[in-house]
Amino acid sequence: MEACNDPRCAIHGSIKTRGMRLSGIVVSSKAKHTAIIRIDYTKYIYKYGRYLRKHSRIPAHNPECINAKEGSAVDIAETRRLSKTKSFVITKVVNNKV
Ligand SMILES: [Zn+2]
Repeated sequence: MEACNDPRCAIHGSIKTRGMRLSGIVVSSKAKHTAIIRIDYTKYIYKYGRYLRKHSRIPAHNPECINAKEGSAVDIAETRRLSKTKSFVITKVVNNKV
């Protein structure tokens, strides 16, 4: 991994991560320095004794040195609010498909 000049990078920048750490799949990386991460999870429904499949989409900062592509599995960490909708940063690409 090369050093980057992105101040919002979790490794080379000045932001600190705290709180939730999640992992998911990148479904969109069209916006500059932003990726949408899809997280699939299940919720147990007691009445039916079954699991309901749910998902959430979390916008996360995509630093220059990581540059995750669509389809990649990534780890994200919570950080301070970076924009109106972003408060997560990608910390690692687990499996780069593209
Ligand atoms: Zn970096």
